[in-house]
Amino acid sequence: MNIILMGPPGAGKGTQAKNLVKKYGLTQISSGDLFRAAIAEENSYGVIANYFIKHGHLVPDDFTIQMMRERLAKKDWENGFILDGFPRTIIQARELESICREFGFQIDAIINLECDFENLKKRLAGRRTCKQCGTTYHVLFNPSKVAGVCDKCGGELYQRTDESEEAVAIRLNTYLHQTRPLIGYYTAKGSLININGDQSMEDVFEDIEKSLEVR
Ligand code: ADP
Ligand code: ADP
Ligand code: ZN
Repeated sequence: MNIILMGPPGAGKGTQAKNLVKKYGLTQISSGDLFRAAIAEENSYGVIANYFIKHGHLVPDDFTIQMMRERLAKKDWENGFILDGFPRTIIQARELESICREFGFQIDAIINLECDFENLKKRLAGRRTCKQCGTTYHVLFNPSKVAGVCDKCGGELYQRTDESEEAVAIRLNTYLHQTRPLIGYYTAKGSLININGDQSMEDVFEDIEKSLEVR
């Protein structure tokens, strides 16, 4: 089963991707995590990505598509993958379709997490991310057992550099203009599953599970 997980920044894509990994043994492929790893490694993708990410803008399509193509070419998953944060533009969605044709795999479900913008701002302001495994926590809504330490791997929790108020405002605006049109794109193809992301993490996951079971 190959899944696309869509939604605005802070909607819970990473959180729910981790739940899907646990339940279905899928491999999470997060474009944001790949960019952050590239930045940490200071490789060519990282240098370019860093400039755009820190200001809250999308990384240009050609770089993003090239990076995702290389990642998907590895075909290193056993039970399928979850694309978390890709595609984010219509151009990326079209390219993904040709990558799928070329590599001989298909997307089985496209899940869209819908969330109120005021809620998103609160989620992004309190998000803390594990440096080692990428698990996200929230200082109020989902705190780690020991402040600043990941429950799963003991890694250090940090606040992302694109989580300032200005960068968040730009990211939400970017979402509205560049990513939200994908909702219409996939709805027209009849393949979008809309999930209410304003519920508790458990209820969101329950809705996702139900939607996958009826397919
Ligand atoms: P969030 O979890 O808040 O949705 P991500 O971790 O997925 O954010 O992405 C962080 C940043 O990385 C984005 O704001 C953007 O700059 C860049 N990025 C991630 N995925 C893409 C993509 N598919 N296309 C362009 N830029 C991307
Ligand atoms: P995304 O990957 O879509 O940007 P995350 O999964 O990183 O979103 O979630 C953003 C923040 O909101 C994190 O701090 C996370 O712990 C928290 N969060 C995720 N889902 C929920 C939820 N249903 N209710 C409250 N907080 C949530
Ligand atoms: Zn961790």
